[in-house]
Amino acid sequence: MALDIILLGPPGAGKGTQATRLESDHGMVQLSTGDMLRAAVKAGTPIGVQAQAVMDAGELVSDDIVSGLLGEKLDARGPDVPVIFDGYPRTATQAQVLDTLLSDRGRTLDHVIELEVDEDALVDRITGRFTCGSCGEGYHDRYKLPAVDGVCDKCGSKEFKRRPDDNAETVRTRMAEYRAKTAPILPIYDARGIVSRVDGMADMNAVSQAIEAILHPA
Ligand code: ADP
Ligand code: ADP
Ligand code: ZN
Repeated sequence: MALDIILLGPPGAGKGTQATRLESDHGMVQLSTGDMLRAAVKAGTPIGVQAQAVMDAGELVSDDIVSGLLGEKLDARGPDVPVIFDGYPRTATQAQVLDTLLSDRGRTLDHVIELEVDEDALVDRITGRFTCGSCGEGYHDRYKLPAVDGVCDKCGSKEFKRRPDDNAETVRTRMAEYRAKTAPILPIYDARGIVSRVDGMADMNAVSQAIEAILHPA
C-alpha cells in the first residue's frame, strides 16, 4: 500500500519545499490545498472567486470547499501513489474528513511530520519567498537564490512571482489561524503514535535528511 503522510507546520515552515523534494526523490505526489485554491483563483471559477478575499486576508477557506477540492485530487491519483498532504488538514473538521477520505479508499495515514519553527523567523521566510512563474520551483531572497541571477535553476525561465498574501500583515493572521485552529489537531495524531517532529529551523538539506530518516528508517 502507498505511504501517505501529512506535512504540518505554520506558514513558511518549509512544507512546500520539502514536499517538492519528496516528489522528485521518492515519486510521491504533493497535494497542496493552497495550490489548488490558487489555481481556482487564477481560473476564475466560482470557488476561486469566493476564496480569493479570504486568502488575501490570511483567514481559512471553508472546510467544505477545501475538502471538496482535496477529494477530487485524491481520486485523480491511483491508489498506489504515495501522497503528501501539504496544508491540509488545518482544522479538526478537516482532520475528520481526511480520515474518512482515506479509509473510504483503503488508505492509511502513516506519518504526520511536524516542522517545528521559531515564529519570529516565519515573517522573514514568508516575505522573502518567491517562485518560478513557469515550473513553480520555490526560492527565497536570502536563503535560496537561483544559481544564476534571475534565471530559474530548474527550467531556465526568467519569470518569477510572489504571492499577494505573502506580506507581513497577512502573515500575522495566518500564524494566529495556525495556532488557534491547526496546532490543536496534533493531539489527535499523537494519540495514534504517528507524529514525528523535525527541526524546521535547520537548513533545507538537514530537514530533508531528517524526513528521510522518518520515512525510511535504517
Ligand atoms: P502556506 O503554505 O504559506 O501556509 P498555503 O498555500 O497552504 O499557505 O495556503 C494559503 C491560503 O489558502 C491560506 O492562508 C488559506 O486562506 C487557504 N487554505 C489553504 N489550505 C487550506 C485549508 N486546508 N483550509 C482552509 N484554508 C486553506
Ligand atoms: P510552506 O510551504 O510551509 O509555507 P515554503 O516551503 O514555501 O513553506 O518555505 C517558505 C520560504 O522559506 C521559501 O522561500 C523557502 O525557500 C524558504 N525555506 C524553506 N525551508 C527553509 C529552511 N530550512 N531554511 C531557510 N529557508 C527555508
Ligand atoms: Zn522554473
